[in-house]
Amino acid sequence: MVTKEQIVQWLQAVAVVLEQNKDYLTELDAAIGDADYGSNMSRGFQKVVSQLPGVADKDIGSILKTVSMTLISSLGGASGPLYGTLFLRASTAVTGKQELTCEDMAALLQAAVDGVVQRGKAALGDKTMLDALIPAKDAYVQAVANGATMQEALQKAVAAAQQGMKNTISLVAKKGRASYLGDRSIGHQDPGATSVYLILKTLLETVENPTNYLPS
Ligand code: ADP
Ligand code: MG
Repeated sequence: MVTKEQIVQWLQAVAVVLEQNKDYLTELDAAIGDADYGSNMSRGFQKVVSQLPGVADKDIGSILKTVSMTLISSLGGASGPLYGTLFLRASTAVTGKQELTCEDMAALLQAAVDGVVQRGKAALGDKTMLDALIPAKDAYVQAVANGATMQEALQKAVAAAQQGMKNTISLVAKKGRASYLGDRSIGHQDPGATSVYLILKTLLETVENPTNYLPS
């Protein structure tokens, strides 16, 4: 079970993690994009944190909807509409819920994947955030089907996201700004896949350390 309080803690922790990884994400984007990814993502989630006090007592669907609206208006670039859609679909998958079961989280992840696919028209292997998100969702769903707990299933999801992120290094970018480079995009890790890994890893860490988790 993931509680509403843990969702709020997770979003606060994501802002910290993205700030800590700002230069790293920007370096990744500098190699195959326009070097705005770290600052964009960090700024977007700082904005999310600033909105949390007004929604923290609402249901998880409402909280995630506010995340979506905030990211759409503050992220910019490709990631604004993509992460905005991810959180919007995630929110509608868990409307009215005060806590998430393993099955709720599976529905959330599936909706998030479907939203990003529809919005960005990318597929697995196109060297995008989906190369971390789809394997993570698949690993999570598989683990839950095998009777895993939330924590165990999220561990599988994070491991799959990390592998998917690493796999982007050898891929040719087929979508977004990186696709302009063609074969020259080979050898560079995708920033979007990296942010997905960091965000899921932070969710796992929040669930593993429920009391006031904040990354060191
Ligand atoms: P830009 O600065 O080029 O507008 P961002 O820096 O905001 O874009 O985001 C770049 C990331 O967005 C990429 O690393 C990739 O993971 C993701 N991305 C780009 N296009 C797509 C797409 N069509 N579908 C899914 N993800 C995409
Ligand atoms: Mg960029």
